Amino acid sequence: METDGDAVLARPNPLMLVRMGAVALARRAADLALPPQCLACDRPVGAHGSLCASCWSRLKLIEKPWCARLGTPFTYDLGEGALSAEAIADPPPFDRCRAVAVFDDVARKLVHGLKYRDRLELAAWMAGWMARAGADVVATADVVVPVPLHRRRLWWRRANQSALLAGTIAKAAAKPFQAASLARIRATEQQVGLTPDQRDRNVRGAFRVPAAEKIKVAGRRVLLVDDVYTTGATVKAATRALIRAGAAAVDVLVFARVVRGGI
Ligand SMILES: [Zn+2]
Repeated sequence: METDGDAVLARPNPLMLVRMGAVALARRAADLALPPQCLACDRPVGAHGSLCASCWSRLKLIEKPWCARLGTPFTYDLGEGALSAEAIADPPPFDRCRAVAVFDDVARKLVHGLKYRDRLELAAWMAGWMARAGADVVATADVVVPVPLHRRRLWWRRANQSALLAGTIAKAAAKPFQAASLARIRATEQQVGLTPDQRDRNVRGAFRVPAAEKIKVAGRRVLLVDDVYTTGATVKAATRALIRAGAAAVDVLVFARVVRGGI
């Protein structure tokens, strides 16, 4: 069944993108006039767009060796292409997932700064780190697609943090940025506070590739970008929608992810 009404409305409004850019520029100009502050805790630092020594030391970067599929860190190097027990027991629909840092403490402050405090200047910094951590999935991508917000939430928050990150990553890598290729056709409850099973049910069938976008997704290797990976329910549902529309494969790139047991 093709009902495109929602999908059309869910597409980013070019004027809004211009407005977001203008806000970011104005803010950047204002920020540059002020003494530089830590991106996470606002403490004074030596240069704009950086973290203080304390936040930097607490940011838990995810580094190799990692599970080739889920990108979760291994304690020991099991060799190139090694998979975690979780990836073998419950294979995700996407091929590979990469993340910059563990979602706790400092990473949470950065993600929330971008998502809830409208700190749009964080997007450039976070996207730079994502491009580095996900160099392999960025290099092989044909197109870059953000996880969309439902239009009601987009209106409320004004900016889709995932689209800001995805757009910056795509531009730096000279890859097509397809913000309209995935639409959220159903408003979902906030995932916060739900169990993994409830999260799965909450987002099932929530995404769709609009009919007009299928040609730009079919046969392509899609890089799906989101800010956080918690249980993976959201990116898995989004991946399934892209694969149903004929995507050749989907890789996932996020800024932070939950790592069970920590690192
Ligand atoms: Zn700090």
